[in-house]
Amino acid sequence: MIFAANFKTNHTRASTKAYIQTLESLAQKVENPIYVFPPLSAIDDFATSKLVVGVQNAYPARNGAFTGEVGVEQLEEFAIKTILIGHSERREILGESQESVAKKFAFFKEQGFTIIYCLGEPLEVRQEGQEALQEYLFAQLEGIDLSYEKLIVAYEPIWAIGTGVSATTADIRATHQLLKKVITQAPLLYGGSAKLDNIKEIADISEVDGVLVGSASLDAHNFFAMIEASR
Ligand code: PEP
Repeated sequence: MIFAANFKTNHTRASTKAYIQTLESLAQKVENPIYVFPPLSAIDDFATSKLVVGVQNAYPARNGAFTGEVGVEQLEEFAIKTILIGHSERREILGESQESVAKKFAFFKEQGFTIIYCLGEPLEVRQEGQEALQEYLFAQLEGIDLSYEKLIVAYEPIWAIGTGVSATTADIRATHQLLKKVITQAPLLYGGSAKLDNIKEIADISEVDGVLVGSASLDAHNFFAMIEASR
């Protein structure tokens, strides 16, 4: 199981440092990679052997005139080679189109980054039925090279993100089966209110290769308890 923690706009520089130290020492016996995505301001050159620290977003350029943005040159300073792309909050709140998401993907692929690429549907689409669901999700794969060897995909139904209500195991299984018809190589994570209470049943779904966790990842001990519980 792959575990990934998305802090979003939570944690400070100091609390991120403490979190990384705590999780790094707790996770010494964990074999699979654990990804942590702190806010940009908390990124540092962390000495980690068990954790992979990545960014939640960056601008698809090495450097240049992109006010307020961070490019590859700035990430290199901290040896960052991992990025989240396509998160629903960036699509919905920050207005990132599929075209701009695909452009960002192509750029960071070219730079050799590990990419956790997110996709997921709003509740209205799911309620329209299977055909609408498939059409919506597959449209979010347009322009994405699914054979990229450093790609990890995260299926995150928008209605389950940050709501405390996870998708049912039957819904997760069925949607992962659908996605795995086209995502044949990359690991496929589930995201959406994964927590200590439900991690075992999510981890037991054979089509789930890992989880992307928001709220329940914010406490290092709780996140590690999830990792332990999934085993
Ligand atoms: C997320 O936003 O990636 C996420 C899965 O959040 P939460 O776990 O809080 O639903």
